[in-house]
Order: sequence, then structure tokens, then C-alpha cells
Amino acid sequence: MATWPNIDDYLDSLGIPHGVPTVVQTTGGTHSATSLHYQGRARDYGNIDTPGGNAGCDRIYRALEPFAASGVLQELFWNPIGCWQNGRRIGPVDGHWDHVHAGLAANKLLPVEAAPPPPPPKPKVYEDPLLDG
Ligand SMILES: [Zn+2]
Repeated sequence: MATWPNIDDYLDSLGIPHGVPTVVQTTGGTHSATSLHYQGRARDYGNIDTPGGNAGCDRIYRALEPFAASGVLQELFWNPIGCWQNGRRIGPVDGHWDHVHAGLAANKLLPVEAAPPPPPPKPKVYEDPLLDG
């Protein structure tokens, strides 16, 4: 089962804009034989189709980076800022100057709320006795 849509769902839950996924950016395209793309776990965010271009890719990378550090994302490659694999920072990865590559670890998903959390309780309003006096 392809899990890459979970990455879009997570970004959507944060209101972070991204492009419409294409087959080349998900399960198709030309990648290494062992690519997570062919396992349905990876998604690319191109600077050409991400709103904001490189800045938009930076925003996506920043949102996903904590999960690369924790290992929920097995891979996160965005050479202008950083690359992660299996919870560790690695050097630049060939071909990742124009798109963010995010790949989920097996059987892992990013936390997406089914519904937005309830608003916090309203603060109690106390009447100021000095004003009433
Ligand atoms: Zn990729």
C-alpha cells in the first residue's frame, strides 16, 4: 500500500502549500532500483511546482525535518539545507538540488489529526471591582 499520501496529508494539516503530486514525483519516474518511490513510500516536492519555489521547498523541509531526525522518515533529501537517512544527517545526495525528497520508513506514518484539535478553553473573565465602584 502506498503511504506517500500521508506526507501530503501531514503538510495539509499544517497548511503548508505543495504542488499536486505527479506519478513521477511519487511511485513512477526514474530512480535507483531500491528507491522508496517504488515501494510507494516517497514523495518529491519540486521547486518548480511548489508554491514559493525554493522557499516553499525550504518550508516543507523544515516541517518534515523533525521526523527525519526521529526516523519516521527514512529519507529526507534537500541539498540546499540538509539530507537525512535513517535518523542521521548525511552529505548532499546527487540530484536533490531542485526538489525535496521525503520517504517514509516502513510501517511508519506522520501524525495527522483526523479533525482539528478543539480550541483551548476560554479564559474566565473577572469583573474588575475598581471599575464598578
Ligand atoms: Zn524522490
